[in-house]
Amino acid sequence: MSTNATQLRQSGRYRARKQSGPVVIKPARAVDLKNILDPGSQWSAPFRPMGANSSATDCTMSVGTCIDMSALTSIRNIDTYAHTVTVQPGVRIGDLVSELAEHGLELSGGHDLMSRTVGGAVAGGCIGPSFGADGAFFGSQVESLKVITPTGKSLEIRNDQKNLLYAFRMSFGMLGVIYEIKLRVRPIRMFAVTHRRCSFDQFSAVAEKLAKIDVGLKFFLMPFRDRVYLDIRRSSNDATAAHRIPWKVKDWGESTVLPHVFKSISRVVPASGVRYRLIDEISKITQGLVNNRLVKSGSNSTALMSSARNGHTAESLLYSTWFFPAADFAIVVQAYREFCQRVHQESGFRCDMPTVGFRVARDDSALLSPSFDEPMIALRAISTQSKGWENFAIDFGDFARHWGGSPLFNQTREVPNDYPAQVFGSRLTFFNKIRRQFDPNNRMMNAFLSQYFL
Ligand SMILES: Cc1cc2nc3c(=O)[nH]c(=O)nc-3n(C[C@H](O)[C@H](O)[C@H](O)COP(=O)(O)OP(=O)(O)OC[C@H]3O[C@@H](n4cnc5c(N)ncnc54)[C@H](O)[C@@H]3O)c2cc1C
Repeated sequence: MSTNATQLRQSGRYRARKQSGPVVIKPARAVDLKNILDPGSQWSAPFRPMGANSSATDCTMSVGTCIDMSALTSIRNIDTYAHTVTVQPGVRIGDLVSELAEHGLELSGGHDLMSRTVGGAVAGGCIGPSFGADGAFFGSQVESLKVITPTGKSLEIRNDQKNLLYAFRMSFGMLGVIYEIKLRVRPIRMFAVTHRRCSFDQFSAVAEKLAKIDVGLKFFLMPFRDRVYLDIRRSSNDATAAHRIPWKVKDWGESTVLPHVFKSISRVVPASGVRYRLIDEISKITQGLVNNRLVKSGSNSTALMSSARNGHTAESLLYSTWFFPAADFAIVVQAYREFCQRVHQESGFRCDMPTVGFRVARDDSALLSPSFDEPMIALRAISTQSKGWENFAIDFGDFARHWGGSPLFNQTREVPNDYPAQVFGSRLTFFNKIRRQFDPNNRMMNAFLSQYFL
């Protein structure tokens, strides 16, 4: 038998013969992946790999076999001289950050939601408030990869095989299952953090400048209160070592408290006017408190370690992320406010969580990178309420396409079939060509991905 039986029984129907329905299997050893993907294996295609499954789309779904990679959690090697770390794909980013800190090292980018996996962050898109020479997407730190191809063959992709690395970063599990990842890391560096509160007009007035300068920018939009909260990070020789506690409190306020409180409020306060007034007031107070008072300096190490175990919060949130050209953002942000207000007026629906945004520097390390050609601003609309969300996601998609938005296949909802070809052009054609070479029989495709990839 090729995989650990206990794990298989826990995660789906266990069959010694060919399966007859969809299953989720959770291999406990990387070596088992080869047998699972072998064309003669007992498991049925299509195969879809899955990390923490925090994606917003159906990219991890399968009517055949879903391969849950979260049991492969070994940090194989930390090379403190070469500044690299080699890990299995199921390692949680928060756990990796803690381990690196023990050696005085950190990841080179800022990436939130620490409960997602390294494999999911490399094969999906993963952004945060990064700046400097860091790539905007998590995958840009990848030095080399080990993969089992869709036909069950082992493949190592070295650092000098640039074209293959461009394809495998953000490949959404279509080119094979990644089972080992070597990442470039660096000694811990301090940065200075400034928090600002402003109106949409004020934000719009400085948006162009902020988009052009090299800062890590994360912001929270409250379209119904005309409020924007900014978290601006820049390198600084004067920044002093930061304590972890304030970052933990900040993360707890932003990521854990708000979703839970809003869910409860929605249950007990039926009148939407009162409910949203209360929700906005709590958002305002929390943002004001955690963003303005607590944190003045940090490092990717202190800022990232906080939320290693808040996966349960992630599961309960609905979100859709679109990327807009940074050069147009001064206008887009005003239009977004009007869009949210119009949708609320017409349908009664609005997102209860603030919209989160990031400046995403130009990053051409992956063929399907939304910021391949120019810096972008990502906007992530988030709701704890499902009633009305689907229609909102469709409207948000219409809005985003009107303003030249780019999607990310695991984070963007409601993308029409023909739209990615307009946005990614020849890069999508090239990716499709590579995909067909690796997977001529579509063993790693599902209905969702087949809409966009030939
Ligand atoms: C509350 C919340 C906050 C978030 N915050 C952020 C944020 O700040 N920044 C951001 O960028 N995203 C954010 N996200 C989105 C999401 O977390 C990221 O897209 C993340 O990279 C997905 O990681 P995962 O481990 O959950 O991967 P999954 O969702 O499980 O998988 C992602 C993709 O990678 C593929 N895949 C997974 N593992 C492998 C493997 N071993 N080999 C090959 N393919 C594989 C899957 O098939 C899928 O296509 C957030 C989501 C939530 C719910």
